[in-house]
Amino acid sequence: MTIARFTKSFTQQEPIPEDGIEAAIEVMRSGRLHRYNVAPGEESHVSALEREVAHWQGSAYALACSSGGAALRIAMRAAGIGVGDVVLTNAFTLAPVPGAIVAVGARPVLVEITKDLRMDLDDLSAKIARHRPAAVMASHMRGHLCDMDRLTAICADAGVPLIEDCAHTMGAKWNGRRSGSFGLAGAFSSQTYKHLNSGEGGLLVSDDADFMARAIILSGSYMLYARHGAAPSEAHFRNARLDMPNTSARMDNLRAALLRPQLARIEDAIDRWNERYHATEAVLAGCSRIALPARPAQETFVGSSIQFRLPGIAPQDATRFVADAAELGVELKWFGAVDPVGFTSAHPSWRYVDPQSLPRTDAVLAGLFDMRLPLTFSTDDCRQIGHIIVACANALAPSEAS
Ligand SMILES: *Cc1c(COP(=O)(O)O)cnc(C)c1O
Repeated sequence: MTIARFTKSFTQQEPIPEDGIEAAIEVMRSGRLHRYNVAPGEESHVSALEREVAHWQGSAYALACSSGGAALRIAMRAAGIGVGDVVLTNAFTLAPVPGAIVAVGARPVLVEITKDLRMDLDDLSAKIARHRPAAVMASHMRGHLCDMDRLTAICADAGVPLIEDCAHTMGAKWNGRRSGSFGLAGAFSSQTYKHLNSGEGGLLVSDDADFMARAIILSGSYMLYARHGAAPSEAHFRNARLDMPNTSARMDNLRAALLRPQLARIEDAIDRWNERYHATEAVLAGCSRIALPARPAQETFVGSSIQFRLPGIAPQDATRFVADAAELGVELKWFGAVDPVGFTSAHPSWRYVDPQSLPRTDAVLAGLFDMRLPLTFSTDDCRQIGHIIVACANALAPSEAS
């Protein structure tokens, strides 16, 4: 192949905005890094971040946590989920999601996905009837929202609380409504590769006052919950303050100082991600072997990564395809690999989850490839990457299925 090798890093994020760096330096100079360590009359960065997140999201309450996984665990405990309960979640997700379910003592039951990478709502309905779950954890993996109108109707009809894992849909919308506001709670991550970057960090939003009071105490507020920027009134803490265990999962002021200026610019970042997504997608769409997930008209997504399928590809060809692309500098993740690699693993690798038969998901994952689109790439970079992927796909022998 005579195609120029791509040389930029797929794991290089943009720098923290200068005002975030300055705010972080100021926090370090003050020595007041802990969220409850404030000077008289001062509001901590964490408290201010909570206020700003709630305002941006349009939710009544917000809680900053130590990670997205911590936000998921807190959400489940605050929803009363515990030992022996079944929680339904997508079979296609990242390991911290089944991990969070297992960490609260509950049992993940996995729901099939469609070829467009969304939760299969027929399978969800069947599994709600069969397992009587304590909650549905909808993990909008890689930014693909399922039919949220139908999902909320299914959960409401069954009386099952809905918790959204919005690690890849912070800023995404369904019919103009923000992801994370469809159920009891929405959880976000500010780990480096998500839509906000503080290294580690998580956010939980909800409109339910009693739920949020429990969540705040669970996050480790001690009796300092009045120092939260988007918390329910004192009355809602009356029981929670002594009933809920302190699980020490707070955010600190340094991280919040980095996040506030990023949140202020998130709509611009979303536009830039989508330019990169569309530039890549347009090239991939020109290759008949490549199947791109359909994007429903109701969905406004955040194209911080792109997924595509090579239907019917044999495992040895998938391995070769990933290696060929890597040779040309393009870092693809393949969800069909038997052994987990880096951040990527599939449900058979989660041995802490009961083995489950998910033939439709397995068929999708066998031919599913995934790639980050960091904002440090230009749209020209994205087109070059697209051409490399197409060249590697065309170099494969014709598959039986195509
Ligand atoms: C990253 C991620 C999480 C967990 O977030 P952390 O902040 O890393 O704990 C949860 N769900 C999905 C889909 C993720 O990608």
